[in-house]
Amino acid sequence: MPAESEPRVWGEGELVSVLVPRPIGTLDYLVSQGVVTGSVVEVPLANSREIGVVWGPGQGGVERSRLRKINRVLDVAPLNRPMRHFLERAGAYTVTPLPIMLRLATRVPGIGDGMPVRTLFHPTGTEPAKMTPARRNVLEQFEQRGGMPATMSELIELSGAGAGVVRGLVKLGVLAQEKRPRDITYPRLDPDRPGFELTPEQRAVADNLRQGVASGIYHCTLLKGVTGSGKTEVYLEAVAECLRTDRQVLVLLPEIALTAEFIQRIEDRFGGRPGEWHSGITGTERKRLWRAAGEGKVGLVVGARSALFLPFRNLGLIIVDEENDGSYKQEEGALYNARDMAVLRASLGAARAVLVSATPSLESWHNVRTGKYSRLNLPTRIGAAELPEIMAIDLREARLDSGRWISGALAHAMRETRGNGHQSLLFLNRRGYAPLTVCRECGEQIGCSECDTRMVEHRFARRLMCHLCGRTTPIPENCPACGADGGLRTVGPGVERLADEARELFPDSRIEILSSDFSGNVAEFRQRLEIVRRGGTDIIIGTQIIAKGHNFPRLGLVGAVDADLSLHGSDLRAAERTFQLMTQVAGRAGRADLGRRGIAMLQTWQPDHPVIQAILAGNDEEFWEAEAAERQIAGAPPFGRYAGIILSGNSVSMVEEFGREMVRRCEPLRRIGAQIFGPAPAPVAKLRGRFRFRILVKAEREAPLQAALLRWKSQFRIPGSIRIVIDIDPQSFM
Ligand code: ADP
Ligand code: ZN
Repeated sequence: MPAESEPRVWGEGELVSVLVPRPIGTLDYLVSQGVVTGSVVEVPLANSREIGVVWGPGQGGVERSRLRKINRVLDVAPLNRPMRHFLERAGAYTVTPLPIMLRLATRVPGIGDGMPVRTLFHPTGTEPAKMTPARRNVLEQFEQRGGMPATMSELIELSGAGAGVVRGLVKLGVLAQEKRPRDITYPRLDPDRPGFELTPEQRAVADNLRQGVASGIYHCTLLKGVTGSGKTEVYLEAVAECLRTDRQVLVLLPEIALTAEFIQRIEDRFGGRPGEWHSGITGTERKRLWRAAGEGKVGLVVGARSALFLPFRNLGLIIVDEENDGSYKQEEGALYNARDMAVLRASLGAARAVLVSATPSLESWHNVRTGKYSRLNLPTRIGAAELPEIMAIDLREARLDSGRWISGALAHAMRETRGNGHQSLLFLNRRGYAPLTVCRECGEQIGCSECDTRMVEHRFARRLMCHLCGRTTPIPENCPACGADGGLRTVGPGVERLADEARELFPDSRIEILSSDFSGNVAEFRQRLEIVRRGGTDIIIGTQIIAKGHNFPRLGLVGAVDADLSLHGSDLRAAERTFQLMTQVAGRAGRADLGRRGIAMLQTWQPDHPVIQAILAGNDEEFWEAEAAERQIAGAPPFGRYAGIILSGNSVSMVEEFGREMVRRCEPLRRIGAQIFGPAPAPVAKLRGRFRFRILVKAEREAPLQAALLRWKSQFRIPGSIRIVIDIDPQSFM
């Protein structure tokens, strides 16, 4: 490929190959008006049209008379070489066909239609032959606006007249209308506004990051710092440096809810709002940001994992905040880990990558140890705030009544915290009211009809809900199996039930539940967070949504109601996840200077479990060493490489038989020394009505696993009723 500074230009009548987001991949087309490699074009495809990207010279082999012409070149920046290269490499790594990668990058409604226009009306100066009160009302609005043009809806709202009146005035030539694009640009961020006065420790780290950005060569750094050490403050210095050199910055955050607080912080620091990219923005904003990223007209983008596929013109820095967060792994469609892909993208574009965490993933920790990444540390909290004191509460000794989950010791600490005027947080990673509904008569556990899982009661919504497929049903009066009347019993706590218990214990306290069940309204959730932050709540009851990044300045106590929850199960990362989650949650306590040290209490049935012990001791290096040693013995990631193969279909026997056939003919995998296990029914054996089996492939880290998987898969004719998904580096083993 030629260097980007001299992009390959094609003129009319030349042949190019165009990548389209269809299984067919690339197709040859004749150029009708000049294009370059990366030009976004509309091409005819069968009887329809498709948006594609010029990928290179035509492959030829098709009679010229049968070739079709490119319809038009869209008025957007071409995908540059690092971007195209990134799509190819990310696709190869994740075994995802290139057309699907392209879809990730161009999944914006009406990409080439330009920005939406709006129609504005203004008076021409002509008087209507017949003046009615309604017409006068409309015309008077313009006088009051000093002659400024207005939209139809403004006129209707201000004058009280109907749309017909306005249109009538246009017909009479009294009003003129014109279309104007909604052209809102992103503000220039000012990197030179002063931030906080950094501590010497922070300054050293910030200087290091800044020099890295200025160097203009790729490198990945792990920034590890305890919660409240000023990691964000420090990496904003690197952001400032990147903006100064006129390159773009991408900050990835794991939760949208997190962005509101973060956006405000950006505004305070740089005097303007960044581009925002997540599921809560409108299609128009999406299109605007996509275009601006390509044209280099937005300096800083803050977004969820899919922001990685924005067509940045000149990306100089990618920050992955809370890099260990599980939500960076996209679990549907193209399965990619945004953290790893961020590093790949940076490396292909001579950009810096900074992975940020208080509790890094074992992968990143290992990459530091092998010298692939470097590491910077912020070991102390800012100001007078100390790390919280962490203690275990032995549930074997707490002797809780059935249906009770808050131990006496925890309740006592909550009372004291309230007395000090501080907030308590009860952490339980379970949405809804109760995870299980059973019939006392026949023992039936109410499950989802489409999935192999139990329905979760959501008392507030008065529904049972499947947390896998989202299906809901009314809460039944009678057992659906035996019909017994009134025999259904809820078992175990969810946050809603815990809130009931807290209300009983603390009738005068203001209690707020924060979980992802916020009816999809991001704005409302942000508002509730803000109320909590301002101290409008005494007791917060939350799922893992609150474990990340939020600053609750008045939080004195954290109680983990069930610290063992994520320890159960055979998940490869159970220990790692528990360690990270509990350390993060505990770190919420005592962040600002409350005048006393924060407290974290972990309720556990296994206070002697090595993971619980490691959390209590706060000795993370020792924990990583032990965890790494175990994984090394098992040949598990990050020492070996895993691929999960998930087969699903409507017929159990057919899926299982096909899985067996795949395992029988695994020669291409054997040849690279890989081991193959299964097929076994997946832990979630049924999902959305489809039966699921898993095959696990284990290979050595440097083995050419992806190529072998492709060779292996290509041996089979896969029936239309069976779906096969390849998950490289699986996070979830469901
Ligand atoms: P982390 O990302 O490590 O949790 P933050 O960057 O969010 O830490 O900092 C924690 C709090 O301390 C924030 O409210 C931040 O504004 C404040 N802070 C950080 N560094 C400084 C500093 N040098 N001087 C004053 N306040 C600071
Ligand atoms: Zn379901």
